[in-house]
Amino acid sequence: MGDVNIKELEEFAADADAWFQENVVTDPGFMLPLTFMEVGTDQQFEFLRDWQRKVYEAGYLGAAWPKEYGGGGLDQEFQDAATNAMRRHHSPIMLNAIGLNWAGPLLLNMGTDEDRQKYIKGILTADDIWCQGFSEPENGSDLGNAQLKAVRDGDEYVLNGSKIWTTQGNFGKYMILLARTNFDAPNKYAGLSFFLAPMMVDGVETVPIRKLTGEYGFTQTFFTDVRIPASCLMGEEGQGWLIAMRTLEYERGARAGQAGGYVMTEFDAFQIVDVARHALRGGTPAIEDPVMRDKLVEFLIEAQSLKLCNERGAIAPLNQDRPMALALSNKLMFTEFARRLNEFAITLTGAAGGYYVGDENAVDQGLWTRGYLNAFSATIGGGTSQIQRNIIGDHVLGLPKSK
Ligand SMILES: Cc1cc2nc3c(=O)[nH]c(=O)nc-3n(C[C@H](O)[C@H](O)[C@H](O)COP(=O)(O)OP(=O)(O)OC[C@H]3O[C@@H](n4cnc5c(N)ncnc54)[C@H](O)[C@@H]3O)c2cc1C
Repeated sequence: MGDVNIKELEEFAADADAWFQENVVTDPGFMLPLTFMEVGTDQQFEFLRDWQRKVYEAGYLGAAWPKEYGGGGLDQEFQDAATNAMRRHHSPIMLNAIGLNWAGPLLLNMGTDEDRQKYIKGILTADDIWCQGFSEPENGSDLGNAQLKAVRDGDEYVLNGSKIWTTQGNFGKYMILLARTNFDAPNKYAGLSFFLAPMMVDGVETVPIRKLTGEYGFTQTFFTDVRIPASCLMGEEGQGWLIAMRTLEYERGARAGQAGGYVMTEFDAFQIVDVARHALRGGTPAIEDPVMRDKLVEFLIEAQSLKLCNERGAIAPLNQDRPMALALSNKLMFTEFARRLNEFAITLTGAAGGYYVGDENAVDQGLWTRGYLNAFSATIGGGTSQIQRNIIGDHVLGLPKSK
């Protein structure tokens, strides 16, 4: 722990704990989204925007980001302590996920001083919501083939095309946008450029898409002759792929520098012990069924091993044999585990697992069924599990590239 003053850190952690204990509202009287990808109503949006701003103003978000841009200027350990306090008190999620977790760190890492002055504070206060325009209807996993066209015209670029699955697209003020500026480049990657694009301009249309849970959270985003200042280009023309790859490292948790807090409800695996105690299978508690007990223990062991792997990932000397293995595996392991855990919770509840949110017979108000359906989101967004496996095969195991 570098030069951190332990006493100051302990005091900060104790203050954060007391603050979240006093200020967290877990039930505002309407359903909160489980993750930043299901913010579907204005009511949810306003509540979460106010909450993020309050956490930031109290000093518990962006605590380790540089002071000159609106951060707290403290060591990362302080932000980690605040995030742990959020966890303990089951704080609602932080809203501006794409700003806090990938656009923000990207700007701090690769942006100009002017960009940072302009954008960072608004990310932290949630005044400026960010969204991400990478995927297109015909190009998701094959991101390098993105076709949205950006043509330079004097001091402006003119954008035409469509992006899809744009999380919080309808609330976005800015978009990190991957667009094609050169259709004659020697390869598909070299023709791409990266923009910090304003969304509230003529020609941008966002059409909400409904998810399998019935909730909204992302849009298809259409660009028709949209004119944006040429200064929105990040880096140089043709550097889009490089900057997009850096962005994905933040998004997939392979690179540190995020503002802190969490943007997805974190299920504690031990919660399913309670489910197993209360859920009845054939009239007896599921926990008394030897097969279910066995499975339950396997999940708890896996949860513990993931936690230890995560801690190990942060200790460089323990990762010398394959330095990127844990960082590149994180997204795959945690998102697939969350999906299987929610599925198992439904299995424990037997036939009652079929009742959904809003049904009086639903176990835990349908939390597990909704959680299960929503858990697929994270196994797809930011690169599907299959793509993550390809990346691990390629970059960690050194296997030949898939054709
Ligand atoms: C909830 C949610 C939120 C999202 N938010 C955003 C957002 O804010 N911004 C944004 O730009 N995108 C967003 N996405 C889009 C996401 O990044 C894409 O859905 C994802 O990259 C997959 O692309 P695709 O949907 O086009 O599927 P495809 O690429 O068509 O893939 C279809 C299937 O084929 C498999 N596949 C494809 N290529 C390979 C390969 N080479 N090897 C093995 N299997 C392969 C995939 O794993 C998948 O199972 C979001 C997605 C979800 C679900």
